Amino acid sequence: DAKTDGRNRFAVYTTEMRRVNDKTFVIQTELAQAIEQQQLRLFFQPKCRLSDGVLMGAEALVRWQHPSKGLVLPGEFISVAEKIGLLVALDRWVMQEALRQLGEWMAAGWWQVGWRLSVNQNVVDLQHPNMLENLQNLLNQHQVSACALELEITEDAFLHHAPEQLDRLIQLQSLGISVAIDDFGTGYSSLAYLRKLPVSVIKIDQSFVSGMLTNETDAVLVHTIVDMTHNLGHTLVAEGIEDESQRQHLACLGVELGQGFLFDRALSAEIFAARWLASPAQS
Ligand code: C2E
Ligand code: MG
Ligand code: MG
Ligand code: MG
Repeated sequence: DAKTDGRNRFAVYTTEMRRVNDKTFVIQTELAQAIEQQQLRLFFQPKCRLSDGVLMGAEALVRWQHPSKGLVLPGEFISVAEKIGLLVALDRWVMQEALRQLGEWMAAGWWQVGWRLSVNQNVVDLQHPNMLENLQNLLNQHQVSACALELEITEDAFLHHAPEQLDRLIQLQSLGISVAIDDFGTGYSSLAYLRKLPVSVIKIDQSFVSGMLTNETDAVLVHTIVDMTHNLGHTLVAEGIEDESQRQHLACLGVELGQGFLFDRALSAEIFAARWLASPAQS
C-alpha cells in the first residue's frame, strides 16, 4: 500500500544519501592531499578558428591523477573543492602550472604571437587583494606576455558577486589579459547586464551547440546570442563542437573560434605539443 511504498522510498533515499556522503567524504580527504602530492595535471584542448580549423590557442583543463582511480575529471571534484574551501588553492596551482607550461612553449618558439591560453578561475579568486600583483609576478617569472593569457569566469558567478569584481576585470584587461565569460547562456544575464560586463570574449555553452541543429529554440538562442554579443563588440567562442555541420553553421553565423571533439579532446601537455604545436603541418 501507499504507506509501505512511502517508507520504502524513504529507506532507498537515505541509503543512497549515505552512499553519496561517504563517497564525498573520501574525496574531501584525498583531495586535500592531492595538491601537495602533485597529483593534479593540466590538460590542453585546442581552440581553433572556425572558418579553417587553424589553431588559435588552447584551454587549460585540470585533471586529478588519482593513485587508484586513474584520471578523474573536474566534474567529480571541483564542486567538492569549492565546498571544503580548497578551490582557491587548486586554481592557484592551475594558474601557476599553466604559466609555467606556456613559458616553456614560448621559450621553445612553439607558441605563436596572437594565440591565447585560457585558464578557468573561480570568481572568488578575483577578490584576493594581491591577485593582480601575484599574476604579474607569475607572468614575469615565466616570461609570458599578458596578452597570451585569458581568464575564464562562469556566467553564473556574476549573479551573486556583481559590482566589486567588475573593477577587477577592468584592471586585468588593462594589463592586457583577456577575460572570457564561460558557459554563456546558462546563467540569467539580462541584455542590460551583459552590456555592463567588461569582458572581451563570450563562450557559448555547449548545451546550445549540441541542440542547435535539432532544436528550434536552441537555434534561435544561438542566433540571438551571436547577434547581441557581436553588436556589443565581443569575440565569440563556441564550446563542444562535435561535428562538421555544427562547425559550418557556427562559422556561417560569424562565430570566430571554437573548441570541441571535432578538433580534439583535452590532451596531456606532451600529446598537445606533439600534435598541435610541433607538428610539421603547423609550420
Ligand atoms: P568548461 O570550462 O566549460 O570546459 C569545457 C568542458 O567541456 C571540458 O570538460 C571539456 O573537456 C569538455 N568538452 C570540450 N569539448 C567537448 C565536446 O566536443 N563535447 C563534449 N561533450 N564535451 C566537450 P572538463 O575538462 O571535464 O571540465 C569541466 C568543467 O570543470 C569546465 O567546464 C570548468 O568549468 C571546470 N574546470 C576545469 N578546469 C578547471 C580549473 O582549473 N579551475 C576551475 N575553477 N574550474 C575548472
Ligand atoms: Mg572553461
Ligand atoms: Mg565552458
Ligand atoms: Mg561548459
